[in-house]
Amino acid sequence: MLSVIEPMTSTHARDMSFMDSLRKGDFSRSVLRAALLVRDEGQQELFALARQRRSECFPAEEVEARSVVEISNVCQQGCHYCSMAKGSGIKRYVMKPEAVVEMADFLYQRGRRVMLLQSGENQSKAWIEACTKIVSEMKQNHPDQELILCLGNLSEAQYVKLKEAGADRYILKFESSVKRLYEMWKPTDTMEERLRCLKMLVDIGFKTGSGNMVGMPGQTIDDIIDDLICMGEFDLTMNSCTVFIPGEACGYRDEPIGDVDFAFNLMALMRIMFPNRLMPTTSCLERCRPGGQFIGLMAGANTVTIHDGTPENYKAMFPIYSTKRFAPGNDHLLDAVANAKMTISTHPLQ
Ligand code: SF4
Repeated sequence: MLSVIEPMTSTHARDMSFMDSLRKGDFSRSVLRAALLVRDEGQQELFALARQRRSECFPAEEVEARSVVEISNVCQQGCHYCSMAKGSGIKRYVMKPEAVVEMADFLYQRGRRVMLLQSGENQSKAWIEACTKIVSEMKQNHPDQELILCLGNLSEAQYVKLKEAGADRYILKFESSVKRLYEMWKPTDTMEERLRCLKMLVDIGFKTGSGNMVGMPGQTIDDIIDDLICMGEFDLTMNSCTVFIPGEACGYRDEPIGDVDFAFNLMALMRIMFPNRLMPTTSCLERCRPGGQFIGLMAGANTVTIHDGTPENYKAMFPIYSTKRFAPGNDHLLDAVANAKMTISTHPLQ
């Protein structure tokens, strides 16, 4: 099975009339298609419009820096694109709540005011109780530390519990809004359940983020357009996209890597269509192309995740993309942000 990719023709390269349509707020499918396919100078024009929209909504030109703590790699799902899938054979770990709270204290002392706690999907009562304890202690210690959770599908009662404990935001990517693809890539889950969870998060009052993957097996340009439309159907405060990278321990390990230019163009479109949402420039962009996170900022991103919260001995056991994943350090990200003529904010952007 092949990834998306429809060759760009000279017609696509020459016909830039879609840019006028985008400026006027015409987001019809033909316009979105042309924008996703554009490359070279036309792509730079697309990025410039995205930056203009970002400046209108975020005039301080700041990038929200978050520290991520990967609190556990235990997962009950079997996604073909993920090396942490149930049964993948990787060694599992769960961080002790005290260790997570201590890490949050340490990062707070260093000035970090936005924390992301991420794990595989685990709906067990004991795990959600542990997460609730972590959230509650973190917020008691530092009420001004914005806390983002990314723990997957849970029950409504579990989401409410985490919200009441003090969590501010929740990221639940829908990955694909196309049922055929969602259930092919994530055979242990259903698209209806994913979207139901997303709706619950918004209704409960989380500042909610969602997004998709590009360059995945079986995906077409039309599927990516459907994803963009889906992002507009939820009251989200954050959008993101990642590029498919075949991890060594995942079911899709022999599939080709996704085309990162589709991700850059999709990011620019997300910024143009949903200008006031936060959007990360993710480490997978850098892994696909050196300088990729800088390009992500030029395409309209305004958040970065800094991998300084997961203890070194656990990092290799959280192979989101690959066991050889690129985990950007401070210096690299500071350079990318400075080159994009932006500044790092350790405080939450709203
Ligand atoms: S993508 Fe998330 S839910 Fe799917 S297997 Fe990986 S960690 Fe689990």
